[in-house]
Amino acid sequence: MTTPSTDTDEAATSRPAAATEDGTTGAPLLQVRNLRKSFGGITAVDGATFDVDRGTITGLIGPNGAGKSTTFDLVTGVQTPDSGQVIFDGTDTTGWRPHRSANRGLVRTFQIARELDEMTVLENAMLAPRGQLGEQLWRAVLPGVRDEVVKQEERLREQAWETLEFLELDHLAEEYAGGLSGGQRKLLELARVLMLEPEMILLDEPLAGVNPTLETKLLERLHALRDDGYTFLLVEHDMDVIMNHCEPVIVLHQGSVLVEGPPEQVKSDDRVLEAYLGEDV
Ligand code: ADP
Ligand code: MG
Repeated sequence: MTTPSTDTDEAATSRPAAATEDGTTGAPLLQVRNLRKSFGGITAVDGATFDVDRGTITGLIGPNGAGKSTTFDLVTGVQTPDSGQVIFDGTDTTGWRPHRSANRGLVRTFQIARELDEMTVLENAMLAPRGQLGEQLWRAVLPGVRDEVVKQEERLREQAWETLEFLELDHLAEEYAGGLSGGQRKLLELARVLMLEPEMILLDEPLAGVNPTLETKLLERLHALRDDGYTFLLVEHDMDVIMNHCEPVIVLHQGSVLVEGPPEQVKSDDRVLEAYLGEDV
């Protein structure tokens, strides 16, 4: 899965790289510092502080209302924190809008909007990758640029096919997105963020409503991508998935980090059990 590199300042290097190979220090890829966000009287995120190391599938768990989704929103710029910092790959990205964070290599999946149901799976996968020359249509009148736009469109299409193949969605490429099952839709959401060639992907309950066969496939793909250098932060309700696939695991409770560590350790921590009391897990 390679696309033409983009020339914008914020474009991340095209491939994620392991800490030891890319010349950066062993510093965490993502550092979240003292994030806070209130809605009226409710403090959704209350001083959350944690790191995500490169090349991990880090789990973020916590009871309903713990602030997991809001934390994702703050990290990826969907919402602006009241205070605190988000440092991604050494750059302070606090308050950056989602497209700017995505250009830097930090993305989250989004539910595919209903209006895209009438586009094919392939068209969905090809939508809006960063730095696309085609976005600058006015340039197409310039000599030479038009050919470049056409070439880039071809490369984009190729990349989309490769991504769909990787996720085993290629046989559905010409189907309308609206006809996909819940699980296939999740895979397409993942395809769309992979098209952005990010370094780090945040997934908020990617397995909700996904059947066991597709769940296995999705988890396999996450591991393959992780082995390839991608970094994941995963919110998931299913404890077995978290315990079997994530390391480390961070437990959020009332907007701040309660416990973090290896899954076995987190699982048997009394504070975690207590936080989940009354929850059906
Ligand atoms: P989680 O994803 O862990 O279940 P959320 O981040 O969705 O938790 O929510 C944390 C708290 O913030 C909850 O009490 C929720 O009701 C509240 N909250 C989240 N988003 C909003 C919002 N846009 N307006 C008001 N309250 C919100
Ligand atoms: Mg949530």
